[in-house]
Amino acid sequence: MFVETERATILLVDDVPANLSLLSSILREDYRIQLATSGAKALELVATSLPDLILLDVMMPEMDGYEVCKRLKANPDTCDIPVLFVTARNQTEDEELGLTLGAMDYIHKPISPPIIKARVRNHIALKLQTDALKRLSFIDGLTQVANRRRFDDMLSNELRRAARQKHELSLLMLDVDYFKLFNDHYGHGLGDQCLTRVAQAMQAEINRPMDLIARYGGEEFVVLLPETDLEDARKMAESLRKTVAAMQISHAHSLAASHITISIGVACNTQSETNSAAELLKLADQALYLAKQSGRNQVKSWHNKKPISRNV
Ligand code: GH3
Ligand code: MG
Ligand code: MG
Repeated sequence: MFVETERATILLVDDVPANLSLLSSILREDYRIQLATSGAKALELVATSLPDLILLDVMMPEMDGYEVCKRLKANPDTCDIPVLFVTARNQTEDEELGLTLGAMDYIHKPISPPIIKARVRNHIALKLQTDALKRLSFIDGLTQVANRRRFDDMLSNELRRAARQKHELSLLMLDVDYFKLFNDHYGHGLGDQCLTRVAQAMQAEINRPMDLIARYGGEEFVVLLPETDLEDARKMAESLRKTVAAMQISHAHSLAASHITISIGVACNTQSETNSAAELLKLADQALYLAKQSGRNQVKSWHNKKPISRNV
């Protein structure tokens, strides 16, 4: 038996209320149930909360189940929700059409409660497993923050959203100072531990849900800050720099301090001419290079192609 928060959600769509009641009575013991009496209402519901599975009637007035399925599969937000058609139609062509449109399976009316339960259980198990794998595929194995794949996806989404909504979008590129010397002196194992601690501390510092910290590679991290201008991004960078320095992780061989420090380059889409991911990354990388050249353990950004050296 699941506790309430762990229950999977199933959306039942049928224009006949008696059918909804019947399905609901079979499934509500084990799942959270959402109901929709038309295709349009189903699409409205999924736009606000994503179910784990949809049981979809085929024959409905106005918008039939095939059309609903087509629209769900065409939308990147909803295309991964498995759809099971529940239908009285049993022609091969009907089934073929539904499966071609992306449905996972068919359940035939009149429905058999044990069969419905078993099929739903299998599909939900598969969906939860797929979700878990998807989450894992976006996480860096060592530090447990987001990985580069996740960051690349988010960066292009956020650049598009920023352009559409005329928002500022800032990017920090961070690199641990003299980390090769740390590994050489303390060993790779402690190096790994250090990276994990630094990443976790930075993650804890970032508290807006839309901000993203990711491991970009090696001892380099990126932070994506939507709806944030250059000045605020510099402040965020400065507080991350201070947080890492305050951890006082000994680094006797660093030439920047006696403990682990990071250098940070800051860029904002307002500085970018092409609004491309590559350009924003290049601006942040150039600012990071400047921070390194200027002695490390500091934040740098560009203003009209000139470095901003004023402290925040
Ligand atoms: P700088 O201040 O210029 O950034 O100097 P640095 O030594 O940090 O830079 P460099 O690029 O020369 O070396 C980066 C080092 O980071 C070398 C590499 O062994 C280490 N490193 C990269 N990824 C990992 C990792 O996953 N674990 C450990 N322990 N070390 C790593
Ligand atoms: Mg480094
Ligand atoms: Mg590096």
